[in-house]
This record gives sequence, structure tokens and C-alpha cells, in this order.
Amino acid sequence: MPGRVKLIVLDLDQVLWDHHDATSLILPLRRVDERTLVDSSGERVVLREGVRNFLEGARARGIYLSTCSWNEPDKAIAVLRTFQLDRYFDLLVIEPHPEKDRMMERILDHFAPKGVREDETVFIDDKEEMLEKVRRRYPRIRTLRFHPDGDVHSFRDLERILLGG
Ligand SMILES: [Mg+2]
Repeated sequence: MPGRVKLIVLDLDQVLWDHHDATSLILPLRRVDERTLVDSSGERVVLREGVRNFLEGARARGIYLSTCSWNEPDKAIAVLRTFQLDRYFDLLVIEPHPEKDRMMERILDHFAPKGVREDETVFIDDKEEMLEKVRRRYPRIRTLRFHPDGDVHSFRDLERILLGG
């Protein structure tokens, strides 16, 4: 890998959790167990296995963490807070449009003063279209598709590839 990883940028829907659209949830949310919450209509959101471990491992190695998510911010932030995951992120970029290249610009601008370069940044998303959009604008960013047909299938995979565990 060119340059060590200094920043990991994570999509939320279908990456951090199984649900495909946090914006469709109806607040308030209620936590059911370590990895499950339900919204006010009984809709469930299940956190991927090993998420917390991965985020803790990244932080312990001094790696910065950001989200990059197409959602209504209040909904996605409510999910992160209900799972008590918001505390792990240095930056929450969650915007109600699919232009993730524009979101990535904000993210890179935020971390550039901390000495983070494009080739030290990894972006993880389940949708190839989003990864491609970001790569077209920032060809040196490393992208990983989190999907059954993609590059990584679990947070264990991500831990092995990015944290060397
Ligand atoms: Mg997604």
C-alpha cells in the first residue's frame, strides 16, 4: 500500500449496519441489545459484527476516522448515538445528496492540516458507483467495496487489511 493509512472514511448504510437507509427510520430509536436498535415503527437496524472493535483498534493506532454518508444527518447521527459510536469519529460528514466526491473534498480539507494526504486515505462503501465517483476526483485514494461481491466482506477483513490484525 502506498503510504501508511492515516484516515479511514466509512459509509454508514449497509457498511456500519445492515439497514439500507437510515433516513427512512422514524425517531425516536430504542436500543435493544449490543448490536440492535428499533425505530418507532419497529424497524430494526443491526450493527455489523466487530464494528466497535475495529473503530477502537483504528483509534488505538492513531488513525483518524470520518463518516461519508448520503442521509439526513439527524437520522444517521441518531443511529450512531444510540449505538454509542459517534465518539469514535473525528468528523461526521453526513449530507442529504449522493455527491460523495463533494463530501470527500470536505473531509480531505478537514484532515489536510493534520498532515493527511490522499494516498494515506481509505474510503469504504458498499456501492461501486460511490467509490468510482470518489476515485475519479481523487485517484490516489484507496477504495474498498464492502459487499458480498466486493473487496471486503466483514469488519474482520477490514481489521486484517487495514490494522494488520
Ligand atoms: Mg451504503
